[in-house]
Amino acid sequence: MESIQYKKVNEPELTLKQWFKNVYEAVVTTAKGLGITFKYVITNSTVTIEYPEVREELPANSRSRLYNDADNCISCLQCSVACPVDCIYIAAVKRPADAPKIKTKDGTPIRLDLKQYTIDTALCCYCGLCTTVCPTECLTHTTDYEYASYTLANMKYDYLAPDIRAWRTRIVKD
Ligand code: SF4
Ligand code: SF4
Repeated sequence: MESIQYKKVNEPELTLKQWFKNVYEAVVTTAKGLGITFKYVITNSTVTIEYPEVREELPANSRSRLYNDADNCISCLQCSVACPVDCIYIAAVKRPADAPKIKTKDGTPIRLDLKQYTIDTALCCYCGLCTTVCPTECLTHTTDYEYASYTLANMKYDYLAPDIRAWRTRIVKD
């Protein structure tokens, strides 16, 4: 059987000068790292928080868990069309002709009854495109980052479910 011949890779020769240079760089970079550590030890600066007793307040424009204020959603589908990962599921039916005329808070007529509005946050990449195109601005990001889950199924949020309203009251500051 024919044996395979491997070529030896030529490594540069380690000269005494290069060896001292390597040792010097190792000492300098270690000293720099320790310098940063001791700076925090000496100045007693706090760099962590005692989560969950203390919670970080994210900036107002953070792109975290999405919220759809379903009462102001006109079922236009623009958010789901814009979504690059197709993780918004919407179902709606035409309102009966004799049903009372209703509008969103910005005055847009609601001609469809929203039957399902679900976002699979396990798929969401938090790009924000869906909120940008929403004509009534009912779809927004919140600053909530505490929604880890043990199952993927639990990461699908039904925005017509009553527990969503309870969650909104906890997290969204008007
Ligand atoms: S933030 Fe991006 S990925 Fe997430 S639901 Fe909106 S459009 Fe889709
Ligand atoms: S873009 Fe806004 S109004 Fe249209 S379906 Fe999505 S959330 Fe509702």
